[in-house]
Amino acid sequence: MEIKNYDFTGKKAIVRVDFNVPIQDGKITDDTRIRGAVPTLKLILEKGGALIIMSHMGKPKGKKKPELSLGQITGAVAAALGVKEVKFAADCANADAEVAALKPGEVLLLENLRYYPEEEGKPVGIEKEDPAYDAAKKEMKAKQKEFAKKLASYADCYVMDAFGTAHRKHASTAVIADYFDANDKMLGLLMEKEVAAVDAVLGDIKRPFVAIMGGSKVSSKIGIIENLLGKADKLILCGGMTYTFAKAHGGEIGNSIVEMDKLDVALNVEKLAKEKGVELVMAPDATCCDGLDFGTMTVKAGSKIANYPSNAIPAGMEGLDAGPEAQKAFAAAIKGAKTILWNGPAGVFECDEFTAGSKAIGEAIAEATKAGAFSLIGGGDSVACCTKFGLTDKVSYISTGGGALLEAIEGKVLPGVAAIKGE
Ligand code: AMP
Repeated sequence: MEIKNYDFTGKKAIVRVDFNVPIQDGKITDDTRIRGAVPTLKLILEKGGALIIMSHMGKPKGKKKPELSLGQITGAVAAALGVKEVKFAADCANADAEVAALKPGEVLLLENLRYYPEEEGKPVGIEKEDPAYDAAKKEMKAKQKEFAKKLASYADCYVMDAFGTAHRKHASTAVIADYFDANDKMLGLLMEKEVAAVDAVLGDIKRPFVAIMGGSKVSSKIGIIENLLGKADKLILCGGMTYTFAKAHGGEIGNSIVEMDKLDVALNVEKLAKEKGVELVMAPDATCCDGLDFGTMTVKAGSKIANYPSNAIPAGMEGLDAGPEAQKAFAAAIKGAKTILWNGPAGVFECDEFTAGSKAIGEAIAEATKAGAFSLIGGGDSVACCTKFGLTDKVSYISTGGGALLEAIEGKVLPGVAAIKGE
């Protein structure tokens, strides 16, 4: 079912959102996620429905931790929705009375789903190595179904709008969908947008398609890189992984980050790129330093900062950003693209001295977007880069999902999407 076609009149809708917002001293420090869910929630209210909102917050691991109570955010949710009151059910698995009293136009927020281990469906207090683990897991999966069934019993229809957790097969993100007919379950507006954005870079691709993968390690991105080698025309590999590639060719990389057990993986990526006709673009030079304090993200007084070829970095120096030649090469590769995907910074952008590479990429993306390209930015750090450089309004789409987006780009079907679409 599509949400825009569903008749919510007089119906109770249970909606999985991502209200996992950061809270400090009882105050929400970033309400992006609440704002992200507002269009779906408002739509349901406008169409005459009653809202039962559910989410997790933090990692209580099956324990009732008051500092992770969603009760803290009812006021903020009410303000975001423009309603007088958001009611609260302090026990998400025993909310029958609150649900029964709920009328059209009213909003009920359930307590943190992860107060119950059944939400994640992982057995607690037992290690995978334990011989009894398999039995405990089976038992927990059965309990997870019961928990999901209970949540489903509150409502006439189910809406999945939590992209940030769509890669998890949890009670509220996927299992619950089994208890609704195909006509009574649907993706929310945020999920629809995220799925369409992923489809634009993986499905219906306008070429040339330039993908930019950065970050610290090859190992955490290899699945995506391999999938992109079958899709992209050009692949810019930057950030810390540069030095694993340089090392694989016998380069000198000084103190730069390297994964010695991934040298063969790097060589294989190059081989695959050649076979598939994908142009690999890597940084010819690096901005290096001998005194970055990663704890405070500042350069220690008296440290040296200099540019070297990425494969000729002197001992004691560490490659921390794409150098000036690399910045030009990246910008040139991005120019003229019609589809762009960016995940992971080109350097240690948290420190002002090493932002230039990521900034050059962000600005080239903004320019290509202005010229008509579709650009998708995803993963916490590249989103933070866009915010830092004031580029959020100059790219096509910024994904709200970290892990979920990466898994979608890897080509995996997200359980939260499959549960609705039956794939
Ligand atoms: P990831 O979570 O893998 O996307 O990596 C993001 C992190 O990579 C950021 O915190 C950056 O500081 C870090 N990073 C980028 N370039 C480098 C580099 N050359 N050396 C060490 N860390 C880096």
